[in-house]
Amino acid sequence: MAIQASVSASPVKTPAKVEYARIATEEAFAPAEMLKIYRKILDGSDPDPGFVSLLGFYMSSPSERARHIITCLQDLGEMRIRHMDEAGIDRQVIALTSPGVQVMDKETAVSFARVANDELAEAVRKHPTRFTGMIAVAPQNPAEAAKEIERGVKQLGLTAVIINSHTQGEYLSDPKFWDIFEAAEANDTPIYLHPNTPPRNMIQPFLECGLDGAIYGFGVETGLHALRIITAGVFDRFPKLQMIIGHMGEALPFWSYRLDYMHQATVRSNRYETVKALKKKPSDYLRENFYITNSGVAWEPAIKFTQETLGADRVMYAMDYPYQHAIDEVIGLDGMAMTPEAKKQFFQTNAERVFKIK
Ligand code: CA
Repeated sequence: MAIQASVSASPVKTPAKVEYARIATEEAFAPAEMLKIYRKILDGSDPDPGFVSLLGFYMSSPSERARHIITCLQDLGEMRIRHMDEAGIDRQVIALTSPGVQVMDKETAVSFARVANDELAEAVRKHPTRFTGMIAVAPQNPAEAAKEIERGVKQLGLTAVIINSHTQGEYLSDPKFWDIFEAAEANDTPIYLHPNTPPRNMIQPFLECGLDGAIYGFGVETGLHALRIITAGVFDRFPKLQMIIGHMGEALPFWSYRLDYMHQATVRSNRYETVKALKKKPSDYLRENFYITNSGVAWEPAIKFTQETLGADRVMYAMDYPYQHAIDEVIGLDGMAMTPEAKKQFFQTNAERVFKIK
């Protein structure tokens, strides 16, 4: 396994020098202090089942994979840069790992988001040519989240917002959260909607068969969340807002035709109070308001399909370090049969534009 190869002392084949910079856009970190808060939550009464399944596993498993991930998550210095060099990654766009502060109580979440953002901004200042950072926010308090977005952009130099999907079962499609969208649009900063495990009222059928995590539950839940945001009319209200979704758009590009057809049919039939006419088709918002990264999906046909349906200017590279620290994937993607222009957009220039990398 690549993950084992990367932690062993044995030499690993490093990707060749190429004509483009490789910018990995969905890379994770976790301050040690956050893991302490997580431990308390896990030891508390009735913790969220998805959180127990995910972080409960990573924070207690003796497996090499779990230990490697927990170690790498906490490093924003030399080890991370060495792993980047080994994998041919020129720059990481880094965000607080899922579920970030969204699993915490409101007060802790608001204050810890600031701590995490200060720590990440400091690392970006130390390594300005290697790291770019995203702003963590606590949706539990939308007004404070909006303020933190402004502070992150104007004072800390962070250039995107990370939200790890639902917040304790609540979705950003609810207008009570829309201060967050307003602040992101006003500060011209995209929101990365990253997965979380399904919430308490959705997870049971996934848990029963071990499909709640990155294998499937993440994608289903986050795809649902993005779709809820679209159908709630968020982009009619905030037309300049840009969002990013990983894992090849959590399969939404593949769903486009059916989403468009059935959304119109549902509106026409007046079947649901919640399904109102939108200014555009669901797939139009995917094309105009979303960027897609290939985190976790180093698969040429899916990347090309998404370039074809959303546009080559909308699809970006991501590794998903340290969860999918796979150097052979970088070599595979370098070899994609694609025009040099499209490949450079994928690896470098789209990310430079979206994350304002100079
Ligand atoms: Ca990830």
